Amino acid sequence: METICRTKIIDVLKREDFGATVCVKGWVRTHRNSKAVHFIALNDGSTIRNVQIVADAQKFDDDLMKQVTTGACLSVTGELVKSPGAGQSVEVQAHDIVLLGACASDYPMQKKGQSMEYMRTHAHMRLRTNTFGAVFRIRHHMAMAIHRYFHEHGFFYFHTPIITASDCEGAGQMFQVTTKNLYDLKKDAEGKIDYSDDFFGKTTSLTVSGQLEGELGATALGAIYTFGPTFRAENSNTPRHLAEFWMIEPEVAFNDIHDNMDLAEDFIKYCVRWALEHCQDDLAFLNKMIDPTLLDRLQFVVENDFVRLSYTEGIKILEDAVKEGHKFEFPIYWGADLASEHERFLVEQHFKRPVILTDYPKEIKAFYMKMNDDGKTVRAMDVLFPQIGEIIGGSEREENYDKLMSRIEELHIPMKDMWWYLDTRRFGTCPHSGFGLGFERLILFVTGMQNIRDVIPFPRTPKNADF
Ligand code: ATP
Ligand code: MN
Repeated sequence: METICRTKIIDVLKREDFGATVCVKGWVRTHRNSKAVHFIALNDGSTIRNVQIVADAQKFDDDLMKQVTTGACLSVTGELVKSPGAGQSVEVQAHDIVLLGACASDYPMQKKGQSMEYMRTHAHMRLRTNTFGAVFRIRHHMAMAIHRYFHEHGFFYFHTPIITASDCEGAGQMFQVTTKNLYDLKKDAEGKIDYSDDFFGKTTSLTVSGQLEGELGATALGAIYTFGPTFRAENSNTPRHLAEFWMIEPEVAFNDIHDNMDLAEDFIKYCVRWALEHCQDDLAFLNKMIDPTLLDRLQFVVENDFVRLSYTEGIKILEDAVKEGHKFEFPIYWGADLASEHERFLVEQHFKRPVILTDYPKEIKAFYMKMNDDGKTVRAMDVLFPQIGEIIGGSEREENYDKLMSRIEELHIPMKDMWWYLDTRRFGTCPHSGFGLGFERLILFVTGMQNIRDVIPFPRTPKNADF
């Protein structure tokens, strides 16, 4: 038999050269048969669409066809024919079927309509389903959109370290990195562990953000972005937090907070537009199966301006809502950190569109944010999205050395390993701004999925590091 190069199913479905011999390889989604013919729906992951294989029962061995079960892997060579069936343009009339891999009868993705919880316990196989195939193809396209956006806008992709010795961003939340023998820890007279003989000679952790190093990049290259893994040991079991997630952090010299907001809005709209243009089949599927308002919501975000208002104005709206009888789980007052319910109230019920909230009380924001003239608020900005709450957090940075130092001293932030960060303010400081976008929160928004565990292939959450 002649050997034919494999064609991806996404490409086979576009072909019109009926009569040609083609070879497709993939996994069986369904197999049904009458006495005379077998119909096999084959999927290879290149698209959510399956190609239908039609196999004449007389031509194929019964023992082979018995092994063509859901999940089995096949190589099929046959003739490309115009499909008489509705909803598909082509099918393959099989000449030759090779069973590359039979599928054991306990294949966990056999039944349709399993719960998301069930899928999570089988995360190694859920990738083979329509839903997760769609989600992870979209995830890929979003990564491409992000790189393209920044590349087209003159940003440089800047790699910041994953192992870091700076613990100033909130020490309690970091995962420690050590090669020390935990069964035999030497301690000093005060009972403190001596790290001088550890791998790096000091305490090190996995990064919670690439921002501080990103600022070094921005104040040299002008505009940079990071896109890498980020780790937070926060014990928050929510549908929006992971212990390991991917963050995109642009940082731009000479941008103030208004430029920063313009960038965030333009960037997010570009990404959502990209999804609408490049992920049509997958989005249509998710709109049908997961969330019927998805496409409308994406379109809405692309077409409408985000509302911009101050934290103080936002609090007033929330307090008024409480006065009018709206019940929140957490108390709301000036100075409170907004809970997701508050953010979503502003976005979903009050403004009915994305909101950028600015000028938060300094007490609830990080030390490096630029102080406003009122001495009470800082130039922070959070972008709040429907269904998600906070999708982006950012700020204009404090570029003044003395102001930054006095904030650091006020907060007793351990800066002994941070001299290099302070140097940016000593050697030609400049106004600059940046933000962090949680990649998985963007994917949640774009896919309509409800839980962040379902938009990263192998989620890491408290008490869960399987696969
Ligand atoms: P939140 O208040 O939602 O916990 P945060 O204010 O701690 O977030 P930032 O430090 O501002 O988050 O991080 C920037 C962005 O990273 C957030 O806007 C969010 O999109 C994302 N992010 C933060 N923490 C997580 C997490 N644990 N899992 C997934 N994404 C996260
Ligand atoms: Mn934040």
